[in-house]
Amino acid sequence: MQATDKIWLNGELVDWAEARIHVASHGLHYGTGVFEGIRCYATDRGPAVFRLLDHLERLRASARLLYMRLPYTVGELRRATHELLQANGLAECYIRPIAFYGYGELGVHTGSNPVDVAIISWPWGAYLSEEGQRSGIRVMVSSWRRVDANTIPHAAKATGVYLNSMLATHEARRCGYDEAIMLTDEGYVADGPGETVFAVRGGVISTPPLSTSILPGITRDTVLRLAADLGYPVVERPLIRSDLYLADEVFMTGTAAEVTPVRSVDDHELGAGPITLALQQAYWEVVRGRDRRYADWLDLVDVGAPAEAEA
Ligand code: PMP
Repeated sequence: MQATDKIWLNGELVDWAEARIHVASHGLHYGTGVFEGIRCYATDRGPAVFRLLDHLERLRASARLLYMRLPYTVGELRRATHELLQANGLAECYIRPIAFYGYGELGVHTGSNPVDVAIISWPWGAYLSEEGQRSGIRVMVSSWRRVDANTIPHAAKATGVYLNSMLATHEARRCGYDEAIMLTDEGYVADGPGETVFAVRGGVISTPPLSTSILPGITRDTVLRLAADLGYPVVERPLIRSDLYLADEVFMTGTAAEVTPVRSVDDHELGAGPITLALQQAYWEVVRGRDRRYADWLDLVDVGAPAEAEA
């Protein structure tokens, strides 16, 4: 990971190397945190954060599901993100807001522990490699099931949930695949470790419904809208693993993964098909501000003004 100048920590911009927390922080021990992954893209009007408010609203919803009170409003977190991006001066970057129970008590109950909030930004290229984005990735169905709705609320992007994702990723890499797809306890297709899953058959695009132990992906929402606008039929329905094996195309989406074609699932060969590539192209156009119909999704960062002028 490439260090940048500043990190926003509990209301202040601090030097990257100084953004420290105590080892007795509750979140470190029990995974009691919520976070977001957001991207800022270079556009011809300067850097623009893609769907920033939607991500911050999801952060707030994740916190609610953990009974956590965020000490900042969505508006304050938006301003903090802008301040940070102005200070770091990157044309394109990944943004990671995180809120977690901090230092105080170390019982499992969160007690009176403070909620610490940080925002980190740094350059991060293609999550599943440039080659993967061009030609597709090889995916396996994981032996690890995605957390069930009654185990941990799956709509929460909570830090502890990512132990589930880590195990699935680790298994996939150990077995020589690029990425995993997790099923629900009942055997329906859920999510990748950090991605939503889509299948295309006979020109129809399918993806699991939000009730299927998946994270309500913001890229999922973007792609559903783009697909509908491009005239492709879209259905949200439960999928089983053979729907993936028999699909004409499978692709995965996420803020980090963007739109990534899947070239095989459990060694059933698929192609980087035309619908995936059309959606990938449409996604690039939107996030880079070249399709003005979706300009509302871009939150432009004013890097012209010096950071001090923001006070
Ligand atoms: N599922 C999981 C489990 C994820 O971690 C992510 C990444 N946040 C996604 C789906 C995709 O969500 P989004 O498009 O909002 O990044």
